[in-house]
Amino acid sequence: MIDDIILEDLENIKKLVKEDKFAGKNVLVTGGAGFIGSWLCDVFISLGAKVVAVDDLSTGRMKNIDHLTKNPKFKFVKCDVCTFKNKEKIEFILHMAGHASPDEYQIHPIETLQTSAFGSANMAELARKNDATLLFASTSEVYGDAEVVPTPESYWGKVNPIGPRSCYDEGKRFAEALLVAYHKQYGLDVKIPRIFNSYGPRLREDGLYGRAMSRFIAQARANDAITVYGDGKQTRSFCYITDTVTGLMLLTTNEKAKGEVVNIGNSKEMTILELAKRIKEITKCKSPVTFHPLPKDDPKRRCPYMSKLDALVGWKPQVKFEDGLRRTIKWFSSKPRDPQN
Ligand code: UDP
Repeated sequence: MIDDIILEDLENIKKLVKEDKFAGKNVLVTGGAGFIGSWLCDVFISLGAKVVAVDDLSTGRMKNIDHLTKNPKFKFVKCDVCTFKNKEKIEFILHMAGHASPDEYQIHPIETLQTSAFGSANMAELARKNDATLLFASTSEVYGDAEVVPTPESYWGKVNPIGPRSCYDEGKRFAEALLVAYHKQYGLDVKIPRIFNSYGPRLREDGLYGRAMSRFIAQARANDAITVYGDGKQTRSFCYITDTVTGLMLLTTNEKAKGEVVNIGNSKEMTILELAKRIKEITKCKSPVTFHPLPKDDPKRRCPYMSKLDALVGWKPQVKFEDGLRRTIKWFSSKPRDPQN
């Protein structure tokens, strides 16, 4: 079932994305059962596209796309993105598959690297054979523990190549280099958004898959302790899912963005402790905030310098943090809490 909050959000995205660009087109979404991937599937279907969603369900979940499986224009294929093959014509590939949660990817470093490296190589070949547009979900993590904040696309990054986060960071950096090479050598139409922390309905909250935002909301709802790592002074900048998805959709068809890396995120920066406090206030929970060791190489500050995306496609975030947070809490509160694993 697709609920009212998501339906309303989809309508808002549709107002900003032109239907005629995607109606009747064949679209492949890897990681289609994941957080951002499932939102993309919803938007493409509502714009009249035919969608194939590929996901091995290692981190994605069928409950994100169950409502689409009876739609004749939607097909789900349970498959690893490294080995996926397709015989039908594809016009757009949105390659979102990946392990995004630091707590989870650090216990699956090989799979995390393989998905980014071999999965992206497979998608690049598929795009080349189909002469398709390939949008690849890169990440703010390519900047590592950035020394330039807010961080522009021109910054090269400060990444530990063998640290606990390197499986994610270096995998994504390899994929960026590979796709830029496909663009240079074959003229492939690649778009490389570097996605900063996004949040909203469907962000996983459970166990190792939980992110700070969703985990804190789950903890607050249960009146459990809110587990802040370090002193909580590290910062992140949170972008509501509809803004992220709108940016991705606009970038997909933009002519000037071919071969480009582009930040997508909200430039309102806040500390993790501020996030915990705001969630406590809104939920009126009795949870104490507890402090735990800061994971190694956890970036101290993260905030995008946002001007390129706006210059390319005319994008500005529409959802204020306070509104997006209240909406997200409302959505989670309307669901049973996921079992913790
Ligand atoms: N974090 C935290 N408590 C948690 C989970 C995460 O304090 O239970 C911190 C984490 O160390 C990081 C920030 O919150 O500094 C954002 O974490 P997230 O899970 O969203 O991943 P990241 O932004 O680091 O990729």
